[in-house]
Amino acid sequence: MAVIGDNQTPGLVCAHHHLYSSLARGMPAPPATPTNFLEILQLVWWRLDTALDANTIEWSAKLGALEALERGCTAIVDHHESPNAIEGSLSIIADACAEVGVRVNCSYGITDRHGAEGAAAGLAENDRFLAAGGRGMVGLHAAFTCDDDTIAAAAEMATNHGVGVHVHVAEGEDDTWQQLRGHTNNDWWLVHGVHLPSDHGLLGTIVHNPRSNMNNSVGYSRPQRFANATGLGTDGIGADMLDEFRVAFVRAREHDVETTPDDVWSWLEPGWSLMPEARNDVVTWNYTPMDPWRLAYSPGVSPTRVEIDGEVVFANGATTKVDANEIRAKAAEAAQALFTKLETTS
Ligand SMILES: [Zn+2]
Repeated sequence: MAVIGDNQTPGLVCAHHHLYSSLARGMPAPPATPTNFLEILQLVWWRLDTALDANTIEWSAKLGALEALERGCTAIVDHHESPNAIEGSLSIIADACAEVGVRVNCSYGITDRHGAEGAAAGLAENDRFLAAGGRGMVGLHAAFTCDDDTIAAAAEMATNHGVGVHVHVAEGEDDTWQQLRGHTNNDWWLVHGVHLPSDHGLLGTIVHNPRSNMNNSVGYSRPQRFANATGLGTDGIGADMLDEFRVAFVRAREHDVETTPDDVWSWLEPGWSLMPEARNDVVTWNYTPMDPWRLAYSPGVSPTRVEIDGEVVFANGATTKVDANEIRAKAAEAAQALFTKLETTS
């Protein structure tokens, strides 16, 4: 395992996050109670992303980055959508993370849910960000909300930029995946795969998000059945990767009692492959030794010091580059504005 000292690890990587969801906690109840995955998207997330603007994107990203840092997560693979504030959105997220000191890989989730114009704007934002030297992938929301032409255009753009496509795949039963056939390569980031058959034939890393899958009641992906590498993400429910590891372990164990903590710890590897600098970040923890077999059964393990790119960004329980209290206060203000908007537009 990637332990570099008894009480130290490299910076952890969240391989699938939605920083835009950081302000969602406490949001007004949806107009109706969702009864399945598609309704969760329609009644919660697609209403929230529609209400985002530059200000709420910025503060949700800063809050999410701060919370990642405080849990020893030094790199985030983000997937963003804000249909009424597309242009420039990836730069806002990248800048917010840089200010806090966390590494980020950005992508905009292109979709045809808002017509061809919306898809074109999403495609353009990925292109603009990558062409300007931004670190990222080309995002697609999911095959079931994209036309075939849109999927082909995203795949081509990713190839041209030398990056992969970051896409939700077979998360729920409505989330068809067959349209992706013939487009994927090993750089693709296939998120969830809950309803993928084992012999799906898609290339790329499958990113497992066990807590989110349980929360949405979509089922268990059984990631160990795939030939693809398995990564680990939170799908927007924070960036506490030790906690996600523990959830992933018990979920795997429920399915197969022979699964070991080492098996599940290895799911952090693809994140380090995509964001290799995080391997050189140093997180010091309040627990010794940082061994997966101990960590799988030890709640409450927390960082005491985080060093990113040689700079100490967290020490003695506090951030050193930014004022965490100020970020929380400004994020709370932005959240209130977002909630008001949701109440008046739904
Ligand atoms: Zn997601």
